[in-house]
Parts: sequence; C-alpha cells; structure tokens
Amino acid sequence: MVLVFAEASNGKFKKAAFEAVTYGAKTAAALGTECHALTLGEADAAGELGRYGAQKVYHLNAPELATFDSAVYTAAIAGAAQAIGAKVIVLMHNSTGKNLVGRLAARLEAGSAPGVNALPKVEGGKFTVRKAVFSGKAFAEVEILTDYKIISLAGNSIPVEESGAAVAVESLNVALPAPKTKVLETKRAEGITPLPEAELVVSGGRGLKGPENWGVITDLADALGATTACSRPVADVHWRPHHEHVGQTGVAIRPNLYIAAGISGAIQHLAGVNSSKTIVVINKDPEAPFFKAADYGVVGDLFEVLPRLTEAIKKHKG
Ligand code: FAD
Repeated sequence: MVLVFAEASNGKFKKAAFEAVTYGAKTAAALGTECHALTLGEADAAGELGRYGAQKVYHLNAPELATFDSAVYTAAIAGAAQAIGAKVIVLMHNSTGKNLVGRLAARLEAGSAPGVNALPKVEGGKFTVRKAVFSGKAFAEVEILTDYKIISLAGNSIPVEESGAAVAVESLNVALPAPKTKVLETKRAEGITPLPEAELVVSGGRGLKGPENWGVITDLADALGATTACSRPVADVHWRPHHEHVGQTGVAIRPNLYIAAGISGAIQHLAGVNSSKTIVVINKDPEAPFFKAADYGVVGDLFEVLPRLTEAIKKHKG
C-alpha cells in the first residue's frame, strides 16, 4: 500500500498535493497495490483527492494537529501507515515534507529519498527513485532497500492527472504525543505567494543598477500576478530583502515561469532556478551565460523590454 500525506494549507489543497496523490496512485499501480491519502488538521473537501487516484482518504483531526509540530505529525503519519499497512509513504517536498522525511525514516527504520523528481522504477522487487543532487546539476538513482520507503516529491516533477472520482472521507484514530512546540502566531506577507510555492516569478539582478529602478520588475510582477526575486549580490547590497535571493545559497524555486532580467546566469544562480519549467532571459549582452539555460531569450535593454512586456500583458488581460 502507498500512503500519500496530502498537506492542506489553511484547509485548502494546493497543486503540489494533487501532484503527490497522482504520484502515489501511479506508484501504487506499478506495485500492484492501492494508493490511500492522509490529511491532518483542517482540510476542506479532502474526498476530492480521490479524483487524483486515492482509493481511500483518511482524515485525522485533533487539537494536537492544529499547528505544525514535527513530532506530532511524524507520529500521525507513521501511526496511520502502520494502521493501514502502507509501506511506501509519499510526502510533498515543501518545508513540512523536508522536515518530516528524516523523522519518519528514523521512526520506521526506513530508507528515504527526499526531493524525488520522477516516478519510481519498480523491477524485480527493486524500488528505485531519481532525485536531483549537487544543486540540480546531476541526478542520482537511489534504490531504497528497506521495507518502509519514505520519499518526498519535488514540485512540478509530474503533471497532475485525474484518474478517479471523489471518495468518502474516513476518520482514523492514531495515538498522538503532546506537542513540544506551540505556534503562537503566523503572519503572512499580504497578497504575495511565497517564493517556494510561486508559479510565476519575475527576478532582477545587478543589471537593474539600483533599488530605485525596481519598478520595472514589480510592475511586470503585478501585471502577471507573479512573485519577485533577485540575484544574491542584489540582496547583499540591500537593494532587495534577503528572502528574495534565489540560487545555491538562497531559495531554490521551481515555478512554471521564471523571468530573469539583468542577471548574468552564474552557476550559483542557476542552481536555484534551473528546475523552472520555462525560463525567459532578458539581457543586453548576447554572450550572457544565462541564455544557454533559457527557453526564450531577449537580447536587449531591460529598461526598454520590461515596460513593453508589462504593457503587452496588461493589454492582453484587458
Ligand atoms: P552580474 O553578474 O553583474 O550580471 C549583471 C547582468 O546584467 C550582466 O549579464 C549584464 O549584461 C546585464 N545587464 C546590465 N545592464 C543591463 C540592461 N540595461 N539590460 C539588460 N541586461 C543588463 N548568486 C546568486 O544569484 N544566487 C546565489 O545563491 C549565489 N550563491 C553564491 C555562492 C557562492 C559560494 C558564490 C561564490 C557566489 C554565489 N552567487 C550567487 C554569486 C554569483 O556567482 C554571481 O556573482 C551573481 O549571481 C551575479 O549576479 P547578477 O547576475 O545579478 O550580476
């Protein structure tokens, strides 16, 4: 049996949860078994996970699960897997999933592979997954040798597929420990999708010349509904806040669209953005290394190109 922990945020599922269930369903089919999904805490319309291939959906709610505590969530997921006899556990590779992979592996004495990005190979009793290593510059094939197998799925690795219908949600009883931490308050920046979850990102580098010029980036981001990002030197000199810095030493992102303006494309920058689905590069230097990684490139002055792009998008959106 495959168990997918489908995390809801403020009760709502995001695309990554549907990807994880799609992945779990395909993995279960390859193993000749069933895929079940688990939701914890507040989760609206959990039965809808059946559409993506979960044959059963379990919902576990308790005061201990109201805010994230890794010890409690580990106990809940491990307990659920043991209760239903699931041997493969699929998590989303977000901050929660990254936190839980190691803990679940320790709890269940399991082999784990965080950040897998392709469906497993299931051949001759072997279970092999692929994951990115060296900041996305190489892939490793990892065979998980233990009975329990814990994996987390990197976002945008597989397309969401509908293969079933909504199912009734079943409740599950698992003994939970008392939380060891208590989240007192969570404040989210108004209206902006945080970089790790953003589908659309507009990013600027040293080519912007100074913070006073950032309007061309934010105007385009506003027109698209995108999140803004920047290269490291830009954050280092405080043109932009550090949480916007993407790359090897910053946030690693996998949006559907990454627009980079005035960024040269150093390997340390590419390490954090080269898993984006579509990369658009705007640079006045035709030799800029970023063009090699780009799906679309515009050789031109960003101060001319970006406002025209913003206008065109506004016109298109009406
Ligand atoms: P530059 O390299 O100066 O490039 C500016 C670009 O703007 C140029 O290509 C230029 O042609 C173009 N340009 C200038 N004017 C215009 C214009 N008017 N219109 C269009 N284009 C224009 N960097 C990161 O980003 N993220 C990281 O996580 C990171 N980690 C690092 C870790 C280590 C250990 C080290 C050593 C470095 C790291 N770096 C990182 C730094 C990285 O090596 C580069 O120095 C940095 O990415 C360059 O930033 P940039 O592209 O904004 O600036």
